Amino acid sequence: MNNKTEDFNPFLNVHQQFDQASAQIFGLKRGLLDFLKFSKQTISHCFPVEMDDGSIKTFHGFRVIHNQILGPGKGGIRFHPEVTELEVRALAALMTWKCALMNIPFGGAKGGVVCDTKKLSKSELRRITRRFITELGDNIGPYTDIPAPDLYTNEQTMAWIYDTYNAFHHGQNNLPVVTGKPLSIGGSEGRAEATGRGCFYATQHFLETTKIAKIKSLKGARVVIQGLGNVGSVVAQLFHKAGAPIIAISDSQGGIYHNNSQGLDIDSVFEYKNQHGTVVGLPGTETITNENLLLLDCDILIPAALGNQIDANNADSIKAKLLVEAANGPVTSDADKILSAKNIPVLPDILVNAGGVTVSYFEWVQNIENQHWSLNDINQKLKSRMNQTVDEVVHQWQKPSDPRLNNPESTNPSESKVETIDLRTAALVVAIERLAKVTLERGIWP
Ligand code: NAD
Repeated sequence: MNNKTEDFNPFLNVHQQFDQASAQIFGLKRGLLDFLKFSKQTISHCFPVEMDDGSIKTFHGFRVIHNQILGPGKGGIRFHPEVTELEVRALAALMTWKCALMNIPFGGAKGGVVCDTKKLSKSELRRITRRFITELGDNIGPYTDIPAPDLYTNEQTMAWIYDTYNAFHHGQNNLPVVTGKPLSIGGSEGRAEATGRGCFYATQHFLETTKIAKIKSLKGARVVIQGLGNVGSVVAQLFHKAGAPIIAISDSQGGIYHNNSQGLDIDSVFEYKNQHGTVVGLPGTETITNENLLLLDCDILIPAALGNQIDANNADSIKAKLLVEAANGPVTSDADKILSAKNIPVLPDILVNAGGVTVSYFEWVQNIENQHWSLNDINQKLKSRMNQTVDEVVHQWQKPSDPRLNNPESTNPSESKVETIDLRTAALVVAIERLAKVTLERGIWP
């Protein structure tokens, strides 16, 4: 998307979100806020890999620990040609807020390698993964920093990460060093679909507990999904199963649209995608660009692909009644303001896609205890955490602002100006307050 007016620095975007939320909290010292805002550690590596044809290519990889106040760093590693250090720092910060919001004992981290998986063989990907993890050395570990899958990485990548780390750390249980592993190597039931499932639970509970979004129920709500990867495909299946017609869906090559009361036939969509590598061209559907798909008239719009998809250029043309951020950072700060003015609630990424890290946490606990929980147990625990967190966010969202923010001398609630904040700000307030409390209780060292 071409944007001439908005600054696309993803780090600035999360900083703006943080500043907006921290302005809603009374009495936190500036220095404490700075500590919660900035990254603790950034590692940048450049490393050579021998390619299948005998040539040598140099790759760049990053791992950022944003904050470890609540526990070890936690966050995915993405493989994408557009990965930048700034993007990884921004995503690591989002992980800090996400873990704090979900009340999970992890800090925030993220990693990325600049590469195009579509142009790499499996053995090249394995060598890139092993070399990157070796370069990271003891900067990752079961109690320091725990990677997970993200864009264009998967359980195979996680198996290689475990195996590489294990090769250098014999004689101890290394399974908790990485989550999102295959079931046969200590992976958790339900992890592969946890992010999409968590997105479904959060949306369902939000619609059940608020009447804000002008959508009577999930059943019959017309849904548009951008992205048909790990997250988007699970989201599509669960919303479809709950009776919400998926009227449009896309992948990197474009989208398809079918606006009847049943929406798309989801089984045919997956079958076609498996056969042709894209959804585009599915008989009986209209082809639509990813840009126009976002602007469709629908009840629920779910971006589940890349960041910065809804910005100052297209936010005003969004017609959805509710926007659900399954991807990380799909809505920019400027777009947030426009959507808020249009009364379109945005269920924020740190809540919506937190199912992934929540089940990653369950995987980590199972690995440490050498346990294997049933899928039913996992889904129950996930649903209860998602619902509880939605309740906390909605409570914060609907609460009048602290009167002392208007007049720092005042403690009189009647002076409170009822100011509405958006759902993202509400979620961040819950997360920042939790982090600030723990930081102060632990005490500033020395
Ligand atoms: P994935 O690699 O499995 O799938 C990505 C999907 O996006 C693919 O369908 C791809 O075709 C599509 N895509 C790529 N470029 C696109 C474009 N320009 N327009 C439209 N679609 C495009 O990734 P994923 O794991 O599903 O992650 C999707 C998003 O969810 C990312 O933002 C990721 O950070 C976030 N997320 C994922 C998890 C997880 O557990 N996988 C957890 C939290 C957040």
